[in-house]
Amino acid sequence: MEGKTLPTGGAGDGGMEGEEGHERQKPLPSPVSASGSDGEGCEGLWELPVEVSARRPECGRCGRPQKVCLCPFLPVHPLNVSTCLYIIQHPAEENRVLRTVPLLAACLPEDKCKVLIGRRFSEEGYPELASVCRNSNTLILYPGAGATNLEDVDLSTIEPYVIIIIDGTWSQAKDIFSRNSLFRIPKQVQLKTSLSSQYVIRTQPTNACLSTLECAAVALAIMEKNESIKETVLRPLQALCSFQLQHGAQVHHSKEHLLKNGLYKKPMPKNKRKLRRIELLMNNIKI
Ligand SMILES: [Zn+2]
Repeated sequence: MEGKTLPTGGAGDGGMEGEEGHERQKPLPSPVSASGSDGEGCEGLWELPVEVSARRPECGRCGRPQKVCLCPFLPVHPLNVSTCLYIIQHPAEENRVLRTVPLLAACLPEDKCKVLIGRRFSEEGYPELASVCRNSNTLILYPGAGATNLEDVDLSTIEPYVIIIIDGTWSQAKDIFSRNSLFRIPKQVQLKTSLSSQYVIRTQPTNACLSTLECAAVALAIMEKNESIKETVLRPLQALCSFQLQHGAQVHHSKEHLLKNGLYKKPMPKNKRKLRRIELLMNNIKI
């Protein structure tokens, strides 16, 4: 599928399922080193159909169909972390076959990974989330204009941290962020990482766009000051990708890769700004 997962990682079907029939949103730039771009060049990748989950018996731990259970790739015991993750999941994300959040949740203690599904998160409806957002130790992974690189944040306070990650397509994440004032309270952070997405079975706009699981893995490793967390959390994703590829899934190269190798099949946009963005991508300029 397409490059989902926002800042956090995420990108998919362009927010067409919005209940008010809002116009197609522009996708969000990668949470990784977003340098003030508007993500416009990513348009068109999110129009691929959403895979609807088949009703096969699922493994209770990893959420995968039992025949392709990924539990052997999960840590034997949940990781011992002090950081708590809040995953804000767009409802469309829950129905995808290849979703990464159940794998992430399976790596962590239950009380360190909370998944809230929805588009609207009001103060009244989500009092616990509201108080989390007001906590000075809460960060939100969102590449807004004022986002700080997570690596540069002073994480020396003794109190445990909370990091909020929005799980959805770029446009869904942008939509959730803009509609919910609660998410504008915490400090905004982004990832400045050299990790290239391994989630090759969904198209990401650039090689640096990470899935929600990858974002969480990188963020947790930084916040817990423990690199091995990253490898542990990424292991089930690597297993998932290699399994899918062995069973006929196509490698979805990033748009950046396709452009550079002359493999991009869509007609070039007429809009000059979009053309300019494609040129920047082809010339390896970070956008
Ligand atoms: Zn399993």
